[in-house]
Amino acid sequence: MNAPIRPLIAGNWKMNGLRASIAEFELMLAGTAKVTGQADLLVCPPATLIAAFAERAKGSTGLAIGAQDCHPDPAGAHTGDISAEMLADAGAQAVIVGHSERRADHGETDSLVRQKAEAAWRAKLTAIVCIGETREQRDLGQAGAICRDQLQGSLPDGARGDNLVVAYEPVWAIGTGLTPTPEDIEQIHQLIRAALTTRLGTEGARMRILYGGSVKPANARELLAIPNVNGALIGGASLKAADFLAIAAECA
Ligand code: PEP
Repeated sequence: MNAPIRPLIAGNWKMNGLRASIAEFELMLAGTAKVTGQADLLVCPPATLIAAFAERAKGSTGLAIGAQDCHPDPAGAHTGDISAEMLADAGAQAVIVGHSERRADHGETDSLVRQKAEAAWRAKLTAIVCIGETREQRDLGQAGAICRDQLQGSLPDGARGDNLVVAYEPVWAIGTGLTPTPEDIEQIHQLIRAALTTRLGTEGARMRILYGGSVKPANARELLAIPNVNGALIGGASLKAADFLAIAAECA
């Protein structure tokens, strides 16, 4: 029998947070001991706060710091971009790639997302690869096919349970207060698991698959109990220490 997969509760702060937010992060840090029996925690602040958060999290075994994006190249003439090596140097241990906001706002393709995941590995970061359908695609019955295609195109060869996490985030559920039904989430997570094991064998069987999209303390228990949901990627509710920790506390 496969060993149980330890859940990951990851917070994506997006373009939110100033130095004053360090106080909220310190509250999170102070509360992690109560929940790290249940899950690994990761906070992905904007790049400007990674070093400050990482400095404060030093020595914490339960909470790591991540980033929200990286450039595929290690260095060079790419004004405004940040490489995976720079993120690692600032103290990040993971990086989100292919978030739907980057796919939509910056035209990121599966192939670019795959290159970014490879860049993450080059810098010894865990890549958190996001996939998910739009409302229109779901209404047309295409959710499964879209997720399968994005997964196939965005995951590099060499993906393992300890270097990559998949996050299923229906675009229409992000920041809207809407979530798919538990049955719909189970169906997509099952499809993702099947695709991962077909492609990666045992590494696919032990890879974490997070659900993301309007997770909050009130719905976390139900969402985290769905088969093949191995944690959550949380936007809005990760900005408040109390909410983030309350969600983590719902991991079985
Ligand atoms: C996200 O953007 O990754 C996300 C899941 O946002 P929210 O939790 O606010 O829906």
